[in-house]
Amino acid sequence: MDYRFTAEQEALKQHVRTLAEEKLAPMAEEIEERDDIQPGMVRILAEGELFRLLFPKEYGGAGEVSAVKICIAREQLSRISLVADTTLAMSGLGCYAIAHYGTEAQKRKYIPPLAAGEKLGSFGLTEPMAGSDVANIQSTAVLEGDHYILNGRKRFISNGNAADTLVVFAKTAPEKRAQGISAFILEKGTPGFESRYMKLMFAHDLAELQFKDCRLPAENRLGEPGQGWTIALGNLDLFRPTIAASSVGCGQAALDMALDYARKRHAFGRPIAGFQAIQFKLADMATELVAARCLVYRAASLHDSGEEGLIKEASMAKLFASEAAKRIVDQAMRIHGGLGIVKGNRIERLYRQITMGIFGEGTSEIQKLTIARQLLKN
Ligand SMILES: Cc1cc2nc3c(=O)[nH]c(=O)nc-3n(C[C@H](O)[C@H](O)[C@H](O)COP(=O)(O)OP(=O)(O)OC[C@H]3O[C@@H](n4cnc5c(N)ncnc54)[C@H](O)[C@@H]3O)c2cc1C
Repeated sequence: MDYRFTAEQEALKQHVRTLAEEKLAPMAEEIEERDDIQPGMVRILAEGELFRLLFPKEYGGAGEVSAVKICIAREQLSRISLVADTTLAMSGLGCYAIAHYGTEAQKRKYIPPLAAGEKLGSFGLTEPMAGSDVANIQSTAVLEGDHYILNGRKRFISNGNAADTLVVFAKTAPEKRAQGISAFILEKGTPGFESRYMKLMFAHDLAELQFKDCRLPAENRLGEPGQGWTIALGNLDLFRPTIAASSVGCGQAALDMALDYARKRHAFGRPIAGFQAIQFKLADMATELVAARCLVYRAASLHDSGEEGLIKEASMAKLFASEAAKRIVDQAMRIHGGLGIVKGNRIERLYRQITMGIFGEGTSEIQKLTIARQLLKN
């Protein structure tokens, strides 16, 4: 087993790292505390050709879609800007499904502007009565002639206010659970469709969506009727390792800040890095981070090679990396002393942001259920 990146993967890592450090870091103060996605930030991601990583080459993407490559990009972006990272990734979480399940006409119409970063995507699954229990969604889509009439509500939808192209899920057979769910492509501006911001403890374009008799052309159904569940899970197979990579990037940022501060801050006549209690914290943080990174890239490699075990290992990566990153950021905050919780200090912001990785794409409890189910299935 080779733990090193290929030359192409290493070049991508350096490219995203330079872009994040040189172009995103100077605007971090502006973009990290605003819910509304800043066009300047999207432009930087687009000029860096990063949206292309999310889609296949035939439709303007960068090549074959690779979980390892998306993980590399997300780790490097989230080290500097979690907002830039999630804006990019949620566009893919929503619309990669079009590349995979869409008709040729859907692919040609929707993917090129998403791959160019001219339009943003979003993934609308969660509802007030359906979070972990997603099969319980209540939104409905009823076929009337050549249109579906969409009604219902969504909540916790990332990019939900800014997105131009949303993949949303609704029941076409409400008497069924998972097998009654279908997927639809919904365009911003469709009459009857409204979004509004949900305020979190950190900045994020998170939306509540409302559908009131939205008329969707029947050709906007993605995949077959009742295939929505498979489509949603297929997207999560690709993106679950990548949200774990985002947690690793945040953990790395926290470790870097803690190392720097521990060297500079003096107490009792010496740098606090000289105290064994601080050294042990740093050692634990670094060890957890390496373990998380190994799980992330192992799961991503399983995705790309098509080998067995992806579902279990992607959940392991997500579970471990998100919880480890939370512990790492907590330790980094303590190493900063009182300054760690002063507004405007980056570690304080990371302390709020780090919860994103725990809830998005299934909580830790749901990851454990998935892992256990896979362990017990034979
Ligand atoms: C920042 C953020 C971004 C998000 N982005 C998106 C998005 O883009 N698109 C989208 O569709 N959704 C998105 N979500 C929704 C996210 O996937 C859900 O929040 C998550 O699945 C949990 O659902 P819930 O919040 O309703 O919690 P609930 O399902 O109500 O769970 C409450 C608690 O009970 C636990 N629990 C539930 N069932 C079980 C069980 N069977 N066994 C043990 N424990 C259980 C949960 O782990 C949790 O601790 C986002 C959420 C957040 C916070």
